[in-house]
Amino acid sequence: MGDCLFCKIVRHEIPASIEYEDDRVLAFNDVNPQAPTHVLIVPKRHIATLSELSVEDDQLVGEIVRRAAAIARARGISAGGFRTVFNTNRDAGQTVFHIHLHLIGGRSLGWPPG
Ligand code: 5GP
Ligand code: ZN
Repeated sequence: MGDCLFCKIVRHEIPASIEYEDDRVLAFNDVNPQAPTHVLIVPKRHIATLSELSVEDDQLVGEIVRRAAAIARARGISAGGFRTVFNTNRDAGQTVFHIHLHLIGGRSLGWPPG
């Protein structure tokens, strides 16, 4: 996906503050953080929305979710609490069409979300 922003970050063509990287997953700090911790965890492979996931991706999604929990632990916000969000399509406010799990925490978070 040549013109996808997050694919460019995955390929290190656009700089990002990288938190974690392995063969399949990249985590980096959101450029416009909504809380003291705001990290995006993405698959390295381009997947546009949750609707494009298949059963073959179950392991990958598990790795992404567990990576969010590990980063929360490492940041010391696990016991206090944190939020993980996949926004999908227009009504949820998805702006980058390469799936990304938002890890948000480090402050008290309101519910329901706006
Ligand atoms: P969405 O609205 O699609 O769920 O979330 C996209 C997120 O990507 C937003 O929180 C936005 O701040 C973040 N973002 C957009 N462009 C960049 C960028 O170039 N670098 C980084 N690190 N984050 C970005
Ligand atoms: Zn992409």
